[in-house]
Amino acid sequence: MITAEILSRARQENRKVLTEIEAKEILGEAGITCTSTVLATSKEKAVSVSEELGYPVVLKVSSVDITHKSDSGGVKVNLKSRVEVEAAYDAIMASCRAYAPGADIEGVSVQPMARPGTEIIMGMIRDKSFGPVVMFGLGGVFVEVLKDVAFRIVPLEKSDAADMMDEIQGKKLLEGYRGKEPADKERLQKMLVQLSDFVNATPGIEEIDMNPVFAYSDGAMVVDARIILSEE
Ligand code: ADP
Ligand code: MG
Repeated sequence: MITAEILSRARQENRKVLTEIEAKEILGEAGITCTSTVLATSKEKAVSVSEELGYPVVLKVSSVDITHKSDSGGVKVNLKSRVEVEAAYDAIMASCRAYAPGADIEGVSVQPMARPGTEIIMGMIRDKSFGPVVMFGLGGVFVEVLKDVAFRIVPLEKSDAADMMDEIQGKKLLEGYRGKEPADKERLQKMLVQLSDFVNATPGIEEIDMNPVFAYSDGAMVVDARIILSEE
């Protein structure tokens, strides 16, 4: 229901990019755990939401015109007090207005600071011949520099998801290394299947990018998400 409403509103507004808040609501409805993420349209609201969620929090610019939020100075993490939230709000607005002068900025998203985990990326792209394809990889340098990612054509079964995780070069990092906790592979497999099921059931989506997902020994959580709609 939420998903249908968000998609039709975006279509009505003639936009192809969903905000992080919209993307996480949709993925949440598909059963995928995301950090709770609340829109604040003013500095005062950002403070009150932060106090409700509990410190530390993260503030991120919320704008349909800014998809790469860090690049525009639009992300401030680990904010521990009202004063820090107020300063972060001002800094984000100033920086984003300078970086993207014409951007329509609706406010900031406020979310709890997630405990660090193994950084994973998951997503969906459309291949010209194969149609929707699900992607899995390790985050950070592994995807940016090493392009260490695995792909599978939708629909995926759990065994496909397990194979993908076994296919990446850095797979040992999922077992835990240098005292880091191992990643909950069961949960990650389930998320890949949920992503595949969602894509299969929902026409009109061009691309999904969950980057990063934090994996823990007991679960995993989407920290940032982006959804692009197809041309009608
Ligand atoms: P971008 O649009 O630049 O990709 P992200 O939302 O991914 O913005 O934020 C940039 C980085 O900030 C993330 O890669 C992650 O390391 C950190 N981050 C973002 N949100 C959170 C959060 N809720 N908890 C902890 N770290 C976060
Ligand atoms: Mg990101």
